[in-house]
Amino acid sequence: MGIIDSPQDIQNSLLKWFRANGRYWIPWKLKKDGSIPQLGESISPYEIWIAEVMLQQTQLRVVIPYWEKWMKAFPNLTYLAEADLEHLLMIWQGLGYYSRANRIHQSSKILIEFVGKNRDQDPQSWPNEIDQWMSLPGIGRSTAGSIISSAFDLPTPILDGNVKRILSRLFALERKTIKDEKKLWQFSSFLISKVSPRNFNQALMDLGAIICTPKKPSCSCCPLQNFCVANTKYDPDDFPKKEMTKIKPLQEIGIGLVFNKNGELLIDQRLESSSMGGMWEFPGGKKTSDESIEKTIERELNEELGIVVKVGAKLISFEHAYTHKKLYFTVHMCEWISGDPKPLASQKLLWVSPDKLYEFPFPAANAKIISELQKHLNYLN
Ligand code: SF4
Repeated sequence: MGIIDSPQDIQNSLLKWFRANGRYWIPWKLKKDGSIPQLGESISPYEIWIAEVMLQQTQLRVVIPYWEKWMKAFPNLTYLAEADLEHLLMIWQGLGYYSRANRIHQSSKILIEFVGKNRDQDPQSWPNEIDQWMSLPGIGRSTAGSIISSAFDLPTPILDGNVKRILSRLFALERKTIKDEKKLWQFSSFLISKVSPRNFNQALMDLGAIICTPKKPSCSCCPLQNFCVANTKYDPDDFPKKEMTKIKPLQEIGIGLVFNKNGELLIDQRLESSSMGGMWEFPGGKKTSDESIEKTIERELNEELGIVVKVGAKLISFEHAYTHKKLYFTVHMCEWISGDPKPLASQKLLWVSPDKLYEFPFPAANAKIISELQKHLNYLN
């Protein structure tokens, strides 16, 4: 019997496997008293929504401590909607892809209008339709589907990386075009259990994490082995078809550490509209091909802050990789010669004592600079 003829057999096999092997303990999938929700029972989407956004591009085991910290800081939607972005960024610090925290902040303002203050523990006050969730910043179809199926046990399909991999193998699909992405959505909608959609979606994610792993899937333990075309006819390792990996371009960045006469250090806050908006950083910018890194720092600090500096000794240089690019940072101590610093390319400037830097949200690359600077200052003292 082909897969198309047997969605119920697939659902039953997967749900049976989930009952024995599923990750029931995921904290945001449980009720407030720690028990597992019944079939068809709704739970508040607040905890699930935050977790789902954190899980975009990040693994479950990394997310859990951040989610726990978040729930202590912002235990409900009302708290969150009234918090300032900087507080959110402090809690998010280290999790990366900071625009996600920004979008949660924007979404909280929209959701509080819909849900109402102090009503977020009542699942009925929340939106439960795909379009409503997808209209929020940073929520795509898969995240929306996962929130709705987890909170309301409704049959909204999902298509995260794990599910794409399973379906590509199950149907031996070559995922290379937009058309194939459309097909994967059709498969996910076709297969989802109408009786137990919450558990079915979670089972798919768990199967992808535990059994149908990117390399060497454990097909002999898989509840879908008899339905899976990649397993029965081909080599599952060949699916999904690999896409060419692009070489990440390398960009050099010059950073200047400027102190005032009180020993305080100049930091600036990125524009809300930029990537990592609202985070703090040390001033600097991109090196052009025809200048030295010292010249870059002089020029950038002049353009961005309106000050003249003399570039001194190098503190540290290091490479930091992002998803689509690699940056090579070179950090120099600078002497402040003239000009009053102004936020010409940022939203705010601050003079901060070096031992207070930990109180501000900085992108991960800046953490290396801070720790090297602390070592340097300790050495001087
Ligand atoms: S049989 Fe193997 S390839 Fe197919 S779904 Fe199961 S683990 Fe994945």
